[in-house]
Amino acid sequence: MNKKDTNSAPKSPATVVTHHGRDPKQQFGFVNTPIVRGSTVIFDSYDQIKGNKRAYPYGRHGNPTDDAVRAVITELEHGADTLLAPSGVSAITTALLSVLSAGDDLLMCDTVYEPTRQFCDQVLDKMGITTRYYDPTIGAGIEDLLQPNTRAVMTESPGSLTFEVQDLPAIAKVCGPRDIAILADNSWASPLYYNPLDLGANIVIHAGTKVFAGHSDVMFGTITADEKYAKAVKQTYRALGVCVSPEDSFLIGRGLRTLELRMRDQSEKALKMATWLESHPLVDKVLHPALAQHPQHEIFARDFRGAGTLFAFILKPAGEDAIAAMVDEMELFGMGYSWGGYESLILPVKIASQRSATHWPHDGNLIRVNIGLEGFDDLKTELADGLERYGQLSNLKR
Ligand SMILES: *Cc1c(COP(=O)(O)O)cnc(C)c1O
Repeated sequence: MNKKDTNSAPKSPATVVTHHGRDPKQQFGFVNTPIVRGSTVIFDSYDQIKGNKRAYPYGRHGNPTDDAVRAVITELEHGADTLLAPSGVSAITTALLSVLSAGDDLLMCDTVYEPTRQFCDQVLDKMGITTRYYDPTIGAGIEDLLQPNTRAVMTESPGSLTFEVQDLPAIAKVCGPRDIAILADNSWASPLYYNPLDLGANIVIHAGTKVFAGHSDVMFGTITADEKYAKAVKQTYRALGVCVSPEDSFLIGRGLRTLELRMRDQSEKALKMATWLESHPLVDKVLHPALAQHPQHEIFARDFRGAGTLFAFILKPAGEDAIAAMVDEMELFGMGYSWGGYESLILPVKIASQRSATHWPHDGNLIRVNIGLEGFDDLKTELADGLERYGQLSNLKR
């Protein structure tokens, strides 16, 4: 860490992403921390290797490129330490394994990212760890679900398909005094707009693949722990042999420099688009926490400083041919997984099969969109034309 990183005056997130994790004096004056590749590190003497006195003893244990990213995320998330993983899923599984042992019980929000559900049901189960799914809107009601062996609660707020916002402070109030670890997937809001550790969570993970990368060109994950859990997370991380490519760290570090600018632009356009869709005759419901009609809008307004680039809407019911007619001719909205990049995406989603603790009540087609950096009017025109085609096949008159 350079001197700026230890300066005690709090800096705005925009300043942190611009200045943290780089020290030109350490790198021949070049502005950015370079890509440092390597496995073997040469020690100067027997005494040095015996005492393990090198800052970077071996490639798997990190390098300056990694540390640049770690410094920025730790500062933004107000954590004690951050570790880097080769994907968001890897960050989640490593964090879960850090806090769970055989015989433990895990409470997982029902809206969780689907591959996390698979890890719980397929891998944790095999290790003798039970997972029970809970309604993400349960808040303090989580108390009724606790068992003597409940060791961890995982939150994802909002859920990245249906956007339920969780009352994290209420969950923390119940679980904190009982020594239950609280994990939070903060990929959507980013630490610019939401800080789960400040609200009682112990470990925050990010799919760095999304807004940190920002350019749809790298897979990445981060795990930030508070003082209490930093050691346990590092121990498990090391034991599992998790590490990342310095090229990937470099791309994330580069993406972070423009995070504030991208988030501000894209989330503003996303909310504008959500507001427009709310009044569209073919739209039944818009799922965006910053809208006043959102069921958990009050919690969102209390705990978040801004919204993400991603939201969803439910269309009046129609067949799959209507969905195809809408999306197949789009040019600006690409159809694909992931989100958080500079470009707009559209994704028709089926929800019912991804729930076990709650019932998804809507039978209309759910469409998720990531709003990119394109001109707002171009995006709106394309969505409007797509909805027109949907309407023609839905037999619903506009
Ligand atoms: C994409 C995503 C992940 C997983 O990240 P990968 O890098 O794809 O493994 C985790 N959580 C959320 C909310 C995501 O959207």
